[in-house]
Amino acid sequence: MFQDLINEALETGRPYIKEGEVATYIPELGRADKNKLGISIFCRDGSRFSCGDTKDRFSIQSISKVISLAVALEVCGFDMVFENVGMEPSGDAFNSLIKLEGSNSHPYNPMINSGAIAVASFIEPKVSFEEMLELARCFCQDDGIVLDEKVYRSEMSTVARNRAIAYLLESKGVINGNVEEALDFYVKMCSLSVTAESLAGLGLLLANDGVDPSGKRLLNSDTVRVVKTIMLTCGMYDGSGEFAVRVGIPSKSGVGGGLLSVVDGKMGIGIYGPSLDAKGNSIAGRKILQFLSSQMKLHIFAKK
Ligand code: GLU
Repeated sequence: MFQDLINEALETGRPYIKEGEVATYIPELGRADKNKLGISIFCRDGSRFSCGDTKDRFSIQSISKVISLAVALEVCGFDMVFENVGMEPSGDAFNSLIKLEGSNSHPYNPMINSGAIAVASFIEPKVSFEEMLELARCFCQDDGIVLDEKVYRSEMSTVARNRAIAYLLESKGVINGNVEEALDFYVKMCSLSVTAESLAGLGLLLANDGVDPSGKRLLNSDTVRVVKTIMLTCGMYDGSGEFAVRVGIPSKSGVGGGLLSVVDGKMGIGIYGPSLDAKGNSIAGRKILQFLSSQMKLHIFAKK
């Protein structure tokens, strides 16, 4: 019966695919098939449900910001991270430099590029990319995650804007180490290849307070609480406020078409739908989550 609801949710989202477009500013992303659509749900009781293209690999893009923030909180600590990066939604596009101007301006939050590049610079001297890759595999319960070399090279060939952000951050003293290393680390994290199932695995870890299905604690409770809160307020680009009202499930999207959602205490949801709305969110994915949220009363403030 739950499977029927998921199938129905997918079909509710499908008609919206045609209203969106795949991202093309990273050339390799432009090669995605915009009609792909899949959803996976991993529940705390161990049951798993999937429908559609849930085994297709695509690049995680901005959803890696969730993994990097979690690791930064564990390795560098809350104070260090948030002395340098804010906690406020920016209301601007993910790659905006606007609010970095001004005398004492830090990146608004860790879910936009400026904040995530700063976070990458904090982690990079302490944790190697290979170690991050291994952590991503554990968090997502997916040993198949690798660096997608094509996406990595494609993004590096069009990285000017993120490089500008990184050097602006250096000029403000937010980045102290090697700027190019931080940028490279950031782009590599965005180029991890995942599936809707991997994202459901990550969602379940966060839904379960940082404890994996085998009962092993991978992340501290405090880390998980902070990450989920930032996802709720800042995870859907400059559509985060409307998404919080309409759907009310902490989520993070990426321009590769991925969507990670956390139904606290209950389940992780992963969606793949590379046709994006104007703000960079999976257009069908948004509709699917809205449908599921209302049908199953998953909004964090839904009357229980
Ligand atoms: N790698 C992408 C960029 O920096 C991530 C963007 C995204 O998914 O929001 O532009």
